[in-house]
Amino acid sequence: MTDYRPPLRDMQFLLNDVFAVPELFASMPDTQEVSADLISAILDEAGKIAAEQLAPVNQNGDREGCRFADGEVTAPAGFKQAYEAFASGGWSGLTGNPEFGGQGMPKLLSAMIEEMQFAANTSFTLYTVLTTGASLTLNSHGSQALKERYLPKLYSGQWSGTMCLTEAHAGTDLGMIKSRAEPTSDGSYSITGSKIFITSGEHDLTENIIHLVLAKLPDAPAGPRGISLFLVPKFLVDDSGEITATRNKVSCGSIEEKMGIHGSATCVMNFDGAEGYLVGAANGGLATMFTMMNYERLSMGVQGNGLAEASYQTARDYALERLQGRAPAGASRPELAADPLIVHPDVRRMLLTMRANIVAGRALSIFAASQLDISRFHPDAAARAKADKLVALLIPVQKAYCSDRGFDACVLAQQVLGGHGYVAEWGLEQNIRDARIAQIYEGANGIQALDLMGRKTVRSKGEYLQLLMADIADWLAAHQDDNKLQAAIEKFSSCRQHLADCTEQVIGKAENNAAEVGAASYPYLELLGLTLYGYMWLRIMAACHEQINSEQGAADYHDGLLKTGEYFMARLLPAASSLREEIAAGADSLMAIRAEQF
Ligand SMILES: Cc1cc2nc3c(=O)[nH]c(=O)nc-3n(C[C@H](O)[C@H](O)[C@H](O)COP(=O)(O)OP(=O)(O)OC[C@H]3O[C@@H](n4cnc5c(N)ncnc54)[C@H](O)[C@@H]3O)c2cc1C
Repeated sequence: MTDYRPPLRDMQFLLNDVFAVPELFASMPDTQEVSADLISAILDEAGKIAAEQLAPVNQNGDREGCRFADGEVTAPAGFKQAYEAFASGGWSGLTGNPEFGGQGMPKLLSAMIEEMQFAANTSFTLYTVLTTGASLTLNSHGSQALKERYLPKLYSGQWSGTMCLTEAHAGTDLGMIKSRAEPTSDGSYSITGSKIFITSGEHDLTENIIHLVLAKLPDAPAGPRGISLFLVPKFLVDDSGEITATRNKVSCGSIEEKMGIHGSATCVMNFDGAEGYLVGAANGGLATMFTMMNYERLSMGVQGNGLAEASYQTARDYALERLQGRAPAGASRPELAADPLIVHPDVRRMLLTMRANIVAGRALSIFAASQLDISRFHPDAAARAKADKLVALLIPVQKAYCSDRGFDACVLAQQVLGGHGYVAEWGLEQNIRDARIAQIYEGANGIQALDLMGRKTVRSKGEYLQLLMADIADWLAAHQDDNKLQAAIEKFSSCRQHLADCTEQVIGKAENNAAEVGAASYPYLELLGLTLYGYMWLRIMAACHEQINSEQGAADYHDGLLKTGEYFMARLLPAASSLREEIAAGADSLMAIRAEQF
């Protein structure tokens, strides 16, 4: 198994040379101090934590899994020490509000850090990512008193957080939840109900666990508009923010046996009249959760990128060393019994597909995270409003497309190793199992596609997409005289046209037949994902040319990236035309067959 090497060079190149992130941060008062040097220092340190603390306990965590006994959950061996190193390094509060002890760093930076953590140890990272999400929701919607009481210890990592949404009969359709919240005489609420699939619901890494729970008030309207959000601590907390000895009436009933992420505790959580506190407006719980969802969903796409990168590193090293067969044009290493796998075109196809999608996926994550940061930090209201719309458009695509391509990359890496990829020793079958869940949780990818097609595209009559298209058009106009990019721009332009045509077509068809939205949604998300990856590659290729021309960069590194970009344009981007045909086929062939005929 290859030791994970944090892809710091790729990250730095994207942040500094492709997206000019230090300049973006310098333009916003609250991020002005986040200089290129600071970014580099933070990423270096985060890379060390990932490679030296998290990766070494990854495989063991998978084999050992979490243990459940008498309502207590024990994380795998080594997780507690790794967590202590993580928390004492100040990583838990990296993006938190400085007023309560957070470090106020942008999401863009934490997205890169999360990628390294997910790559090194996905199960471990889920304990910390959920805490970040819960803290963010509390900071955005909690009362001052709740924030003062809970945020400092969430940011210090002494406590962790969860999101308790799902119930046995209510997954995607949260309007059907049955958990109840009864007001009590002291202003708190008594929470009763059972939640399933709760990540980090119970564990031994932190002294307290702060649950954010969706429940219904007695007079709540039916459906999604009748849901409220409550903070429910495992141990009650006093006014000064210290943990008390009083255990709240919340307990873990069991943990799930599952395909992957064995080191992450997936819990049934029972609330039996637990003391809870309203977060945000009564009946406004779902809207409140949406603040967190954009951040969490971005992290799930990042999970796909991270596991893809870890898998790619193993496959590349293996392909360079493993000797099998001879190169098509004759032996490349005649002194050896056979050539390394890397000489074979089909092995190159697998490696290049992985690399092309990983680099573009990382770039798309930076692009989407930068919109989250602009929407949070930019002093200009119009810039924030535009970023909000781009966030709404980009996040479902980033979540689904990066997690789908990330999973594909893990499978391709396994294929590069042949039978050795199938056995546990190399860690690739674990990566596949760990990557699979990112396509399902935080809203299954089909639901992301529906959100993109229905709410974000048809309902807005393409307004959000127009913003992106304008951004792309501006970039293309600025590079129209760049001869070295013309071949790539030409290929990209037909993909962009397919997207524009399909958007118009689906918006038109949806007026007469609502099923057209759902029928078009998945291939449409794929088409937009592919177009975005193409746009990311154009920007990367332009930056590579600039670096080579300026003689500042290492020519070989940038040349390798350019060749990967050319591969993407030549062999992956053409999938746009078959997606266009699929979208044009419409709903008829999907809806014609009766349910009994399946
Ligand atoms: C390991 C793990 C960890 C999790 N962690 C958490 C957590 O921490 N907190 C939490 O609250 N939940 C958590 N979940 C729950 C997770 O978010 C849900 O499983 C997920 O949202 C899907 O819900 P479901 O499983 O009920 O599937 P369903 O809602 O039953 O959906 C099944 C399938 O039908 C499709 N579908 C459903 N409705 C529609 C529709 N209207 N139109 C088109 N297609 C549709 C979906 O895309 C999906 O493919 C976790 C789940 C797992 C497995």
